[in-house]
Amino acid sequence: MTDYNAMADDDFRKMLNDWLVENYPSELRFPAERMHWDQCGDWYMTLAKKGWLAPGWPVEHGGMGLDANKLLILMEEFESYGVGRTPDQGMTMIGPLLIQYGTDEQRAHYLPKILNGENIWCQGYSEPGAGSDLASLRTAAVRDGDDYIVNGHKIWTTLAMDANMIFTLVRTNKEGKKQQGITFLLIPLDSPGITVRGIDNLGMHDEFAEVFFDDVRVPVANVVGKENDGWTIAKALLGHERIFIGSPKMASLAMNRLKALAESANMFNDPLFVERYTVLKLEIEDLAAAYRRFVEVLKRGGKIGAEVSMLKIWNTETQQRITDLMLDVAGENCGVSDAIPAGDTAVSAPGEFIGARPTTIYGGSNQIQRNILAKAVLKLPS
Ligand SMILES: Cc1cc2nc3c(=O)[nH]c(=O)nc-3n(C[C@H](O)[C@H](O)[C@H](O)COP(=O)(O)OP(=O)(O)OC[C@H]3O[C@@H](n4cnc5c(N)ncnc54)[C@H](O)[C@@H]3O)c2cc1C
Repeated sequence: MTDYNAMADDDFRKMLNDWLVENYPSELRFPAERMHWDQCGDWYMTLAKKGWLAPGWPVEHGGMGLDANKLLILMEEFESYGVGRTPDQGMTMIGPLLIQYGTDEQRAHYLPKILNGENIWCQGYSEPGAGSDLASLRTAAVRDGDDYIVNGHKIWTTLAMDANMIFTLVRTNKEGKKQQGITFLLIPLDSPGITVRGIDNLGMHDEFAEVFFDDVRVPVANVVGKENDGWTIAKALLGHERIFIGSPKMASLAMNRLKALAESANMFNDPLFVERYTVLKLEIEDLAAAYRRFVEVLKRGGKIGAEVSMLKIWNTETQQRITDLMLDVAGENCGVSDAIPAGDTAVSAPGEFIGARPTTIYGGSNQIQRNILAKAVLKLPS
């Protein structure tokens, strides 16, 4: 078994890149939108067979066992090669959570089913009245013998239509502090009483769904951790997520596409354009330097503080400004949603623009990240 962490970084990068060139379907490079299972299921299974589906999981659970540094390299290589995301909530969210908080039975039951593609998971946290203020969630689970009876409504559930399992936060106690009455519950989506209804995003792509629970019976054995202790577990998921979401890669990829578009439109002769372009380019350089600082801390085995929130704000807002400029460059071509030729690639300026809008909302909206910085870093009063 290869010890990937012992490899030199450059060798590891080359190994990943060579394998992607050989195995990643070229028609799926740089997908304009989140791929559905019928598009990327074969690729998911290719990764599974190679043993690279769960890079961050420990080897004993079927993962690659990568340390933080190698994991970031893998993500960079996959992103820069244009590898699209599979329905990956099993690998990135519920798998690590079960490894940390699940029982032996839960790990033995669920982890192999993630790795063999039998279970595709989605995340059921948000509700119509509970997004940023997640602890206000109202989907209720009431005990009835060895089961709960679940009633309620989740929303913005990414790719729920492709999933057969949902991990949820449900209310099991209405008394006391609202964070204390929440339970983390795993629910098969084929349970009687569940309805999944797709929602189109701004690009008219059915990326999300609403999930309705109407007297759904769920075994008590499906609770992760203890009843009423789901909030602690839900917060743990955020762990290292913010550093990944802050990687400058997304903004630099958008910058490459802006460059291709601008070159094909002869925009580098226009000093006003060059000025706007240069400001964005320097912005990414600064972001990359800040990002490297956080990565160094992780590499040394250190812990990252609340200040990491600045990366998410910086990365996503820079990406949005880049796509704003793409619209100006594309001009009348913005009426066409298909990608238009730009040098040896093709770029859809409106597609890029629309794709960059939700980045400031998910993973904790940018306003919430600013609140975190204000309170936890700058110690400003609430
Ligand atoms: C692409 C995408 C994928 C998603 N996938 C999932 C998923 O798979 N599962 C899931 O459960 N959820 C998912 N979500 C939902 C996401 O978690 C919520 O949209 C997010 O938490 C914001 O909640 P909300 O939409 O209810 O907005 P609200 O919380 O109602 O916020 C509305 C606006 O008010 C601002 N605001 C709210 N509170 C404050 C405050 N205290 N201070 C300052 N400003 C504030 C917000 O920043 C925002 O601008 C997804 C969202 C997106 C965009």
